[in-house]
Formats: sequence, C-alpha cells, structure tokens
Amino acid sequence: MKVSMADLPAQYAALKGEMDAAVLSVLATGMFGLTPATAELESRIAEMSGVRYGVALNSGTDALLLSLMALDLSPGDEVITTPFTFVATAEVVALLGLTPVFADIDPATYNLDPQDVRRKITERTKAIIPVHLFGQMADMTALTAIAGEHQLPLIGDAAQAIGCFHHGKPVAQWSLFTTLSFFPTKNLGAAGDGGMVLTDDEAVAEKLRYLRFHGSKGTYSYKYVGLCSRLDAIQTAVLGVKLPHIDAWNEARRQNATFYDAAFAGMGGLVTPCTAPENVHTYHQYTIRVNDGRRDALKAYLSEHEIGSGIYYPGVLHLEEAYRRYGGKPGDSPHAETATAEVLSIPVMPELKAEQREFVADTVRAFFGG
Ligand SMILES: *Cc1c(COP(=O)(O)O)cnc(C)c1O
Repeated sequence: MKVSMADLPAQYAALKGEMDAAVLSVLATGMFGLTPATAELESRIAEMSGVRYGVALNSGTDALLLSLMALDLSPGDEVITTPFTFVATAEVVALLGLTPVFADIDPATYNLDPQDVRRKITERTKAIIPVHLFGQMADMTALTAIAGEHQLPLIGDAAQAIGCFHHGKPVAQWSLFTTLSFFPTKNLGAAGDGGMVLTDDEAVAEKLRYLRFHGSKGTYSYKYVGLCSRLDAIQTAVLGVKLPHIDAWNEARRQNATFYDAAFAGMGGLVTPCTAPENVHTYHQYTIRVNDGRRDALKAYLSEHEIGSGIYYPGVLHLEEAYRRYGGKPGDSPHAETATAEVLSIPVMPELKAEQREFVADTVRAFFGG
C-alpha cells in the first residue's frame, strides 16, 4: 500500500464538477487578474477568520513581504523571528535590507519561545514575526504582552495555520497582519501560487491594496513603490470552490492525528506532537520527534514500505549560507538546532484512508519493535 504526504488528485476528483465549471468560467470571461470574485473571496476568508479585511496576493511569501513593506522600516532595522521555519519568513526581512534576528523555539511546540524573543529585543527591533508552525499557534498571549510593552507590530505567519485558534480566538485576531499561503499542499491550497493578508486595520488593508499593484490604484499615479502581486482569477475560482471544505478538512486532519496519538501512546523512541491546552491544532503537519539518532533510519524504513514522510525542517536558517552574514553561530538556538535532527512529519492529509493511516501507524510501530 502506497501512502503519500499529499494527494491533490484525490482532492480534485472529489470536487471535479464544480472545479472544472469554476475554472472554465474564468477562461470564458477573459478577466484574469483582480475581479469582483477577488473581493468576494477576500471577504469570505476575512469573515471566517474574524477580521474585517483580506487582501489577496500572489503568494504567502508576498503576504509577508507586503506586510513588512507596509510598516515602512529602514535598512538595518531588526525583525525577530524563528530560525525553524520555511525560509520565506526570514527571506522577506533580508530582501528589504532589514536584519533578521533569530530567537529560539519552545521544544514542545516548535514555535517561538517568548522569553528568548524578549532577550533579543534591542532599540533597533521594529517587528516580530511569530510563525504558527505545523498548524498550531505560537504563544500569542505572551508574545502580545511583549510586543505591547515595546510597541512592536506583530506579523503572524499563518501559512500553515488557517483555521487555528488560541484561547478561543481565531489566528487572524492576534496580529496586526496575519499572512496565509495557498500553496497547493497547504491546508487550503490553490492550483498554483496564492496568498492573503488578513487584518482588522482599514488603513493597513488599503495600503496593501496599493502595494500589490505597483503602489497604484490603476490610475497611472503612484503613491508608493509597490510590486505586482495579484491573486489571479483562476486561483480565486479554485479557492472559492475549496473554501467551504476547509473546516471539514481540518477536522479530518485532527482525526488522523488523534488516531496516531493513540497508536503511539506509551511507545518509547518517539515523541508525539504536543498541543498546548489553549490551542486548536489543525495539523498542517503531524510531526513526531525521533529519539536516539534514529530519525533518518525511520524515514528510510517508511520509504522502503512506500510511505512518504518529510523533514520540516532539515536546517536552521541562522546557519544557512545565505543568512550567516547576520552573525549566526551553532548553538545560538539550541532547541531549534536539535529539532532539525529529530523531527519527522508523517502523512496526515484529509484524504488519508483508514487503512492507510493504520498501515502508517503499524509500520512506525514495527520500526520501534512494537
Ligand atoms: C508555505 C510557507 C510560506 C510561503 O508561502 P508561499 O505561498 O509558498 O510563498 C511562508 N511561511 C511558512 C511558514 C510556510 O509554510
């Protein structure tokens, strides 16, 4: 039995009629950029996220980039984030001539450790980007308090966290900017690239709308230096068809996670994911920690049994060649560095069949001799 990390053809097959009609109708209109359907999708996602505005963009990376651009920072200003994330989170900081400053993670949740964030704050700190990794929110209670003390804006990277809650409050209500990615394998994925910034701040939303279209409202007059970052109409149509299913898909991921939690309970050699009691997890990844240096051996064993798995992430950003110029050294973020050698994500997609997840669990147990 073959089990992969994602099965997008199966997701498409389930929605084929509606999906084909939606995409073909875009082709027939000949309107491929921002259309009335963009505004409709923005308000649907904003509404389900509990904020007033959504601004649809080209990618999750652009959602982070435009959020930082909207803050009007100066070269050398520092932005604190985690080194245990997809590169885009820190890349946008560096691209704007700002300085990424990396704080360590909480080893239980893999999210930013608020106490280390506090230690990294200087007079040059101008923003904090918590990443809500694997489908679980960072400790926004503590981070909001720290940001408030220092009057720092928060950009929540929710590329992996659509539908998440912390203390019963949706992810988008915790930061000035909350960024989503619609990369095809994210919990809500387009058929190509896409992203969105969610915000409750009208002025911020308006500035983002300028920035995504060359700093203009399409009048050939330019208020800001912007760029080209539209969510195209075909992606808008695809997302419009998928959106009504996101809650059920997130619930299916949670059920798969609950199944694995029970299957691995009490087993030695691995640590199952930890959900902080104040969080609702959406399991973008189901990430176990493998002890005793056996992570790569488990990955190879799963692969021999035709089971996909992923290492998110195999390295910390402060030690990557492109980011070493910011002065990072081994040992700077010990919990993040240890995690890179121990984490393994196993299939948790909503399309996973009962017999597939049983096979995954049995195979993992067999590896550990259980
Ligand atoms: C996917 C992802 C991004 C980037 O999103 P794209 O849509 O691929 O540009 C940023 N941050 C995190 C944490 C991600 O997982």
